[in-house]
Amino acid sequence: MKIICIGRNYMEHAHEMNSEVPEKPVFFMKPDTSLLRNNQPFFYPDFTQELSYEVEVVLRVNRLGRNINRRFAHRYYDAATLGIDFTARDLQRECKQKGLPWEVAKAFDYSAPVGDFIPKKELADINHLPFRLEINDRLVQAGNTSEMIFSFDELIEHVSKFVTFRTGDLIFTGTPSGVGQVKIGDRLKAYIEDRLILDFFVR
Ligand code: MG
Repeated sequence: MKIICIGRNYMEHAHEMNSEVPEKPVFFMKPDTSLLRNNQPFFYPDFTQELSYEVEVVLRVNRLGRNINRRFAHRYYDAATLGIDFTARDLQRECKQKGLPWEVAKAFDYSAPVGDFIPKKELADINHLPFRLEINDRLVQAGNTSEMIFSFDELIEHVSKFVTFRTGDLIFTGTPSGVGQVKIGDRLKAYIEDRLILDFFVR
């Protein structure tokens, strides 16, 4: 499986990063070795001094597809959860300055904690889904999928022009504003509506 991640999909986050609001979705990948499941602790890597959290809604792909029209895109995912797109912001800044790819900052081991999936039919409206992240019980990010620049269906249409989707692939759909750093000892809790989806420590 592969993990497709969308960058800059919430207006205020693009602004806080001093990034341009994109005309087309921006995407990158994390390998399957970046997955962290079951609320296992995340161990702070020694190659960064500036590790950032980004809470994101994650879709689970349930069928094979390429060149998917947005009208049919909703048929290609059957469940959603939350994930953290951990980012070594210091390394990413260096990559951006030099015009280099971002993998060292985004694709490292365990950089993608992912919660348990909720079937789409259990969610009232996946396109108006409130979610949030708390660190040590303090609210740091709150978003709603209705605020995305590109909807789930537009993302799938765009990415599938370039990359074939397979069953089990995951799509991180972008983070709202409020990103910041974690430190050792922090406890991260993320919610969809009032359901606790992620609850783990940084060690
Ligand atoms: Mg992200």
